[in-house]
Amino acid sequence: MPILPPDPAAAPAAPLRLCIDKDALAANWRALDRASGTGKAGAAVKANAYSLGVPQVVPVLRDAGCADWFVAHWQEVPGVMAHVPAGEISVLHGPVTMDEVAFARECGARPVLNTLEQAARWIEGGGGTCDLMIDTGMNRLGVSLKDLGDPLIARLDVDCAMSHMASADEDAPKNAQQLGRFREARASVKARRFSLANSAAIALGPDYHFDLTRPGLSLYGGIPRREMSAFIRQVAFPQAAVLQVRRVMPGETVGYNATFQATREMRVAIVSVGYADGYLRAWSDKGRFSFEGAALPAIGRVSMDMTAVDVSDVPTLREGDWLGIEYDPVWASRTSGLSQYEIFTVLGSRFSRR
Ligand SMILES: *Cc1c(COP(=O)(O)O)cnc(C)c1O
Repeated sequence: MPILPPDPAAAPAAPLRLCIDKDALAANWRALDRASGTGKAGAAVKANAYSLGVPQVVPVLRDAGCADWFVAHWQEVPGVMAHVPAGEISVLHGPVTMDEVAFARECGARPVLNTLEQAARWIEGGGGTCDLMIDTGMNRLGVSLKDLGDPLIARLDVDCAMSHMASADEDAPKNAQQLGRFREARASVKARRFSLANSAAIALGPDYHFDLTRPGLSLYGGIPRREMSAFIRQVAFPQAAVLQVRRVMPGETVGYNATFQATREMRVAIVSVGYADGYLRAWSDKGRFSFEGAALPAIGRVSMDMTAVDVSDVPTLREGDWLGIEYDPVWASRTSGLSQYEIFTVLGSRFSRR
């Protein structure tokens, strides 16, 4: 009898969940929209909405009132288009090939033009409404101020002219300098809208808001500037299933390279999350889990698919129970040494997102 590959939908539920608090997500967008003053907040949803999941995140933000979406790659457009009109989507990497120009014109998403070459390519391919990135001092993507007078720029039909802040999460002189250069650019470029602020720059005040802001990190609960903790809520709550509970005797070790040695008799749970899921080895001996209100420390090295947790304090815990993975972004960043951006974007594809 032939054995057919099973329907993936028929596979059992994943032992790893990423629970998204939709109310917190919508509330964060509304709070950032309010904090943007006269500007309207959009949403950076690149990298699968910072790994939280485009299908989970985009409909919630759309229903909250968001109508401007930023992705990095053209490959990210169809996933977002499943939920919102293409004309609301901007592609930050711009058109580097004629294939990308053709795709943009076919699907209706706007390229963010970053160079004069991209502007020429866009016009050559037929053009249409686009966005324009202007470099004001980060030296990453964008047309330099000195090139804004090029006749190619004047031929563009620019919806949103934008720039990106390098140090908005600090009180650096660079912030005012970039603002000054952006104002200069604004005086010389024709565009329907102007946009400068990412999450952190929203908190720099009304001067930075212009017509549109582009928060990413803070939508998802990240707090790049301390003053934002007053209105940003945690959104992502990862959980992992217990695969086994074992007794470990004093003197025994746990995990690769025996980095953890028990000094007393312990109950240890092996849970289904590891560095292949983005729970990196930085969490070895530092991670924290929770069960029914009890805080439980990770012990030993994080493995590819598993982490050991000291569950001595919860004698009722059994195989198949779920542990919360402590993931408050500020705490998680400080404890792991990863940035708050990495805390989110490393989360892997084996999480079921809900
Ligand atoms: C990623 C990105 C954003 C969002 O930045 P956050 O710091 O996550 O708010 C905004 N604008 C551009 C151009 C980006 O690349």
